[in-house]
Formats: sequence, C-alpha cells, structure tokens
Amino acid sequence: MLNWFDQYGSKDLPWQQDTTAYRVWLSEVMLQQTQVKTVIPYFEKFTQRFPTVNQLADSSEDEVLHLWTGLGYYARARNLHKAAKIVTEQYNAELPATQDELEALPGIGRSTAGAILAIAYHEPASILDGNVKRVLARYKGIEGWPGQKSVADKLWEITEALSPQLRIADYTQAIMDMGATLCVRSKPRCEECPFETDCYARQRDALASLPGKKPKTIIPVRSTTMLIIESNTGEFLLHKRPSQGLWGGLWSFPECSEPEIGNKLLDLCIAEDAKKTQLPTFRHTFTHFHLDISPLVVKSDSKHQTNVISESESSLWYSTEKPQEIGLTRPVTKILAQLKETGKFV
Ligand code: SF4
Repeated sequence: MLNWFDQYGSKDLPWQQDTTAYRVWLSEVMLQQTQVKTVIPYFEKFTQRFPTVNQLADSSEDEVLHLWTGLGYYARARNLHKAAKIVTEQYNAELPATQDELEALPGIGRSTAGAILAIAYHEPASILDGNVKRVLARYKGIEGWPGQKSVADKLWEITEALSPQLRIADYTQAIMDMGATLCVRSKPRCEECPFETDCYARQRDALASLPGKKPKTIIPVRSTTMLIIESNTGEFLLHKRPSQGLWGGLWSFPECSEPEIGNKLLDLCIAEDAKKTQLPTFRHTFTHFHLDISPLVVKSDSKHQTNVISESESSLWYSTEKPQEIGLTRPVTKILAQLKETGKFV
C-alpha cells in the first residue's frame, strides 16, 4: 500500500499543504458524501476566509452557510461552526488529540476522529469512510450492506487490524486514494491495483456483489409551491428557515405546502395586476423524501404590498447583483440561475 502511495498517491491536495488538525478536520467533513474535485474550491474559499479555528468560531452562521452553499448536507456546516466554538472555548483553539474528545464534538464521528488523529497527529488510528468500506469489503470478501451495524463492525475490525504503527498518515491517505481512484464503485481498475492477486472480489469475480447494496426503500413524495416574489427594484424575497430541521439556517423562498394556500397568500399580498409566471415543477430529493417544487414567479408593481410579507426579521430582499453573504437552499440557487439563463424575470 505504501509503495503504491509513494508512486501514485495524492500529495498536492490543498489540505496536504500546511497540514494542521483544523485543515484535516475541515477537509474530512467536506469530503463526506462529496468528491475531491468538488471539495477543492470550497476548501480554498473557506480557509482563505477562516484560516484558523478562532476565526471560524467568531464568524456568524450566515457567513459559514454562505461559503457552504452548493456543497449540500448543511448540518455538516452547522456542526463545524458549533464545534469550532467549543474547541476555542474548551481547548484553547487546538483540536484535542484523543479519539474520545474528538468524537464528543458535534459532527465528528469515529472515522473522522480517526482521520484527524492519523493524518494530523500521526497517532495510530483507523478510518472507515465510504471509500474504505468499499475497498475492504471487496478485498476481504465481507458480504452485506456496510450501513448495517454487524457488517460495519466486521469492517472496523479489519481496518483496525490493517492500520500500521508507522507512516500512519500516508497509509490513511493511501487507502482513501485507492477507494477514490482504483477501487471505484463501477468499473474498478483492478489491473492497476497492488492487491489484485489476493483480492477476494477480483479473484472470485464478485465485484458486482461487493459491497452489498442498501436495501431498497420507497420514500414518500411531498409537494410545495415556492413563491419567487420579485420586488419592483429587481430583488427577491427570501425567508430564513428555522435553525433546526430541513435546510436549517438557510434562506429560501416563502413556501406553501399546498398550491391553493400559495394562491391565497398571493391574493392577500400581491396587487391584483401582479404578473405571475408558473415555472415547470421539479423534484428535489432529500434522504427521506422527494419534494416536488412548483415555482410561481410573481412581480408586483407595488413594493408597499409585497412589504406586507417581508417585515419580519427573518426576511430580506436578496439582490442577485450584489448578493448578501447568506446560505441559500439548493432550489433558490437553481431557480435564480434558471431565471437568469432564460431571461425569465417577470
Ligand atoms: S483488486 Fe480491484 S476490487 Fe480488489 S481492491 Fe483492488 S481495485 Fe478493489
């Protein structure tokens, strides 16, 4: 593994330069469910703005979510921010160097703690992220879906037994690289893999069945109407979502769960001569349900009337010319980009 790493492993990633526990932590959190090439620009913007834990702790949640916009899974950003405050207050702005203390911080699980210990502190520790699960399930022939506890337990035993005492940082990076470049989900590049001759899946032609798939579940479909209200000065009304729950702390269009309620709100708030354009419905999928979104674009000639629904502190008029530094939900960025592209501002 280390010979392979010396020749082919990644050594120039931004978080491999000026390696600190903070930078390793940030990269590990960003890399959860996200590919390296997507993470790089976010990591660079984030570390330019918040080069240290203290600076992250001192920022507002809006600033953090703004820099996270587009990366998804926003609980990661909120937890990072919360954990930065704890690290600053309780650990003098240095990430702790024990598994238990790291795992006690919001958003840091067993594998992320292991990665921080191994890569930043060169402590013997193990990781088991999605890529490593795939490599080990194939190499050792561990059947079953790795999301299942009994399967994950077996994989943890294996990853711990394989982790070396020496060069733990390089080994940890190496196994992550292997999963990201050779032992990929479909069409793994086994002929280039240093473990080809003793890999269970390769030798027994079991690549298609390892690792085991997640059992299929049918998730419900919900629907909503989003009101894209454009002021007479070309700004869009956004509401801040409660910090707990779906899209917590992000800014989104006012929304009605049923189309007729949306229309009532419009009748109440928008001048009769308001121009309305219904955009095509599209689907946004969360882990536990699909949301079918019908965007209704409205422009009122009277800002006075639109102000009726924008007086609360958790509302603002968003300027696409001079965007405020806030976190936006995916549908907001998608709809605004679509409107811009098609010139369909009403
Ligand atoms: S031989 Fe193929 S399946 Fe086995 S570990 Fe290497 S890349 Fe993965």
